[in-house]
Amino acid sequence: MSIHIHPIKAFNDNYIWTLINDNNKQAIVIDPGQSAPVIDYLEAQGLELTAIWTTHHHHDHIGGVAELQEHFPMTHLVAHSEHNVDEDQTIKDGSKVNAWRCTAQVWDISGHTASHMAYVLDIEGSKHCFCGDTLFSGGCGRVFTGTIEQLYNSFKRLNGLPAETLLYPAHEYTASNMRFGLSIEPENIAIQQALLQAEEKTAQGIPTLPVTLAHERAANVFLRADVLSVISGVKAQLPLVDDKPLTVFTALRSLKNDF
Ligand SMILES: [Zn+2]
Repeated sequence: MSIHIHPIKAFNDNYIWTLINDNNKQAIVIDPGQSAPVIDYLEAQGLELTAIWTTHHHHDHIGGVAELQEHFPMTHLVAHSEHNVDEDQTIKDGSKVNAWRCTAQVWDISGHTASHMAYVLDIEGSKHCFCGDTLFSGGCGRVFTGTIEQLYNSFKRLNGLPAETLLYPAHEYTASNMRFGLSIEPENIAIQQALLQAEEKTAQGIPTLPVTLAHERAANVFLRADVLSVISGVKAQLPLVDDKPLTVFTALRSLKNDF
């Protein structure tokens, strides 16, 4: 079986990640905030939509769901009960979702919202994690209906995946996140290089995603809250009551809110 993964662009900076089965010309989309770009792409490629998976309830992730269900009546909709859609399969942490002969594990990675799910898909032994608005390359989601403690624990959980796991965030925020990272860790070569690459790719309209977890461990300050240079970079901007990773992570999130 051969599956490849393609980003359909939506709104200004959303990616609707699309799993494409090249053998049977079927497709699965994740977080279709808009229907038109999905329909256009699938029709141009001669693909049939067979499933939709959602990570959380924000409009830019579910806004196209109802129209896609109408357009492709056989579509199987996979969502959490709090995602405000009419799902066929209700998921929660520990659920399993099928993509043809592959299986995705559902992980609760709340914090951005209170019911934010990730899909960790295994394709022939390599892992692909669709992480919505929880982790961005070089950054992390804002806290809306979840809590900062949940978000921190979700980052810890994602960090437990194998280093070569590919991460598929739902937004192209890489360049601005790397600029924020350099305001904390100006000497970090991985962040310096990631910023240059992101600026080049963005200028050419090429996605900076997906990224490996290994890359994020080096270039995402939110995964580096226990690293001395990050702790001192935060302290230079904000007094900290202690050096605990959750305290540093919380301070990073609040500094990013004002960046
Ligand atoms: Zn969101």
